[in-house]
Amino acid sequence: MSEADGQGRRAFVTLVTNADYAMGATALVHSIERSGTTAEIVILHTGGVAGESLAPLAARGCRLIPVQHLPLSEGFNSRHSRGAIHAGQPFTKGRKPLFHTPLDNFCKLRLWELTEYERCLFIDADALVLKTIDRLFDYPEFSAAPNVYEGLVDFQRLNSGVFVARPSHATFAAMLERLDQANVTWPRTDQSFLQAFFPDWHGLPVYMNMLQYVWFALPDLWHWPSIGVLHFQYEKPWERDHPKVEQLQPLIDLWHAFYQNRDIPDIASLPGPQEPRR
Ligand code: UDP
Ligand code: MN
Repeated sequence: MSEADGQGRRAFVTLVTNADYAMGATALVHSIERSGTTAEIVILHTGGVAGESLAPLAARGCRLIPVQHLPLSEGFNSRHSRGAIHAGQPFTKGRKPLFHTPLDNFCKLRLWELTEYERCLFIDADALVLKTIDRLFDYPEFSAAPNVYEGLVDFQRLNSGVFVARPSHATFAAMLERLDQANVTWPRTDQSFLQAFFPDWHGLPVYMNMLQYVWFALPDLWHWPSIGVLHFQYEKPWERDHPKVEQLQPLIDLWHAFYQNRDIPDIASLPGPQEPRR
């Protein structure tokens, strides 16, 4: 299909490489459907996901697209193994679950091959869409929100859990060229790479990728009516237990309501982090 065929077609895109993230994507898809979007929903998945994990997504009419890992050198793969990434620049702010494989993150770049779409809005599988955000499709490439969850310095970096892109084989080829160079390591995988590849990235409002730690670390920033995407960075809400469960309980409860497709309370009138829970 030529790139011109992509005229006007738009898709939400996420990535799933194992059963855990298929759970995440199931909640995400429920939330996207409830947002009242007119765009398609695409799930990129690798060989590691069993059919039964993908079945709920297929049943909801998502377009499932199998993808291969990127053609990367052995050196690249070992520099980006879980052990190497964690040893190189340890995660001091939060903890990554065991089912998180850093190398898998780079499969996000396959989105640029989906040239049947004019615009794609990538959203991590560990996120929820809380209101209509279709206007984001009109933002330019490359748009992402800042990686804010502690303080002002966070505005220097983007978070690659939500971004707007224009699929293009030329861009994809340029990315592959840049990605795997001798001894180059991307300490935060696709996020570090995208920041370097698009140094003049456009900013989405911080509320289009509200990171869960804002709830306890920057409570003044929390504003339910403004939140378009809630992103569970670090610990995942479906982990049976994790070190921040108590601090994040109201957000975890909300995730489970979406996952089970139960009644969702009016988001805009939920109590904020400093208000007592109703
Ligand atoms: N992902 C995946 N399998 C993995 C690692 C990542 O499917 O082993 C996908 C999934 O969509 C996930 C995204 O890549 O949401 C980025 O990883 P994650 O959300 O765990 O990173 P964080 O937001 O905690 O930095
Ligand atoms: Mn994420």
